[in-house]
Amino acid sequence: MKIRKTAVHPPACGCNNCHRDDGSLPLDQADAPTVARMICGTIRNLTGRDLQVVVTATLGRASGDVTADRIEVRDGDRTWDVTDHLDSALSFDPPF
Ligand SMILES: [Zn+2]
Repeated sequence: MKIRKTAVHPPACGCNNCHRDDGSLPLDQADAPTVARMICGTIRNLTGRDLQVVVTATLGRASGDVTADRIEVRDGDRTWDVTDHLDSALSFDPPF
């Protein structure tokens, strides 16, 4: 059975919820798929901090389409490359 966390808590959090398989997870133990699910909204960001999302994208010369090449989430010195875990976000319509 796959374990599904529901929220990410601050780094090194040791609350009771972080000890349950179906509970939360401290940010320092979160992997890229987990962080990607925070962006998608299926896991709540209860880390108590704002996480920086850095998108490197290409504007196509002919099509005008904007395609995300790389998406990283940063928290201080820690970086998660969530590019391969955000299938639906890798192609998006420009807002104009
Ligand atoms: Zn916790």
